Amino acid sequence: MKRLYNFGAGPAVLPEEVLKKASKDLISYSDTGMGISEISHRSEIFKNILNEAKNDIKELMGLGEDFEILFLQGGASTVFDLIPMNFLHKSDFASFIDTGRWTKRAMDEAKFFAKVQMLASSEKVGYREIPDFDIEKINPKSKYLYICTNNTIYGTRFIKEKLPKSDLPLIGDMSSHILSETYPYKDFDLFFASTQKNLGPSGLTIVGVKKSFLQTAKDNLPAMLSYKFMAEKNSLYNTPPTFNIYFLGQVLKWIKENDGLEAIEKLNKEKAKILYEYIDNSNLFRNEVEKEDRSLMNVVFTSGNKNLDYKFIKNSEARGLLNLQGHRSFGGMRASIYNGMGLKGVKVLVDFMKNFEIKNK
Ligand SMILES: *Cc1c(COP(=O)(O)O)cnc(C)c1O
Repeated sequence: MKRLYNFGAGPAVLPEEVLKKASKDLISYSDTGMGISEISHRSEIFKNILNEAKNDIKELMGLGEDFEILFLQGGASTVFDLIPMNFLHKSDFASFIDTGRWTKRAMDEAKFFAKVQMLASSEKVGYREIPDFDIEKINPKSKYLYICTNNTIYGTRFIKEKLPKSDLPLIGDMSSHILSETYPYKDFDLFFASTQKNLGPSGLTIVGVKKSFLQTAKDNLPAMLSYKFMAEKNSLYNTPPTFNIYFLGQVLKWIKENDGLEAIEKLNKEKAKILYEYIDNSNLFRNEVEKEDRSLMNVVFTSGNKNLDYKFIKNSEARGLLNLQGHRSFGGMRASIYNGMGLKGVKVLVDFMKNFEIKNK
């Protein structure tokens, strides 16, 4: 079976060991004689899978008993609506730090339910950095401060040191870097991620929420849209995406078996360093993101010449390096190097870039 190097932003490359195990479990899970996707969500087997995944998330993220983990559907895009729907009343405000499309969308959705404040934005500089912000300027009517911790499109990320510190609940969209590095996950009152970037196939959304913050959520909401209700039901009110929860569980075990999050972080930093160092020294390619704010997961670059970028993408495909085109709204190239991408893939990419540079200078 052929496997090429997939640098797509999501659905994205997944650990091969997990794919192999999952393909077996699809036929028969753990000698049950049933495939994992054929097992009832009400069975003890599945409940154990779900609870183990919840516990492993908490363990890897360093979360205590004060956190609820929800397994939902609808993607990060539905969370953009459900957070304001659950936590805001019409006259409330929510504050946002705008780092591009994913925060803009979240802000636009919040406007259906309440008022929004844009505390800071890096739009003026093409979202090439995490903007400075003044916590003192938060609207007193704000119920939470919302950020996207890694912006997949522009290749930016909030390093730990720059995370906002205030008394206000902090909310983070972590879709594209969850469990890629040690991070003060427990300092967030709510974080969420679609799984298709770093944790599995598309179709599952993880929401982690502090119980104390969850207490402030509304009660009178439709069942499927209520975080409080879904927490009471342990995400088992209706049929959850059972395969995705199983797969997530396997990815979490894979992280644990590979010496945990510190080891994953070390490898991710090494991968990113190899790429950025080459790009910074290249006479052809450049990355314009403020160095401090660079993503470890999504490395954007361009030659500055549309035709040459196009040629690069075409040639890289022919070499088996797939999905290197940048986001359709941003152009250029983007190498997404999630947990599932090994060091080897990054080295092959850099070698290819070096060759391309020599031929096209
Ligand atoms: C991909 C992505 C989303 C959108 O996720 P969907 O599951 O497609 O709704 C939101 N935020 C970030 C940071 C993303 O990378």
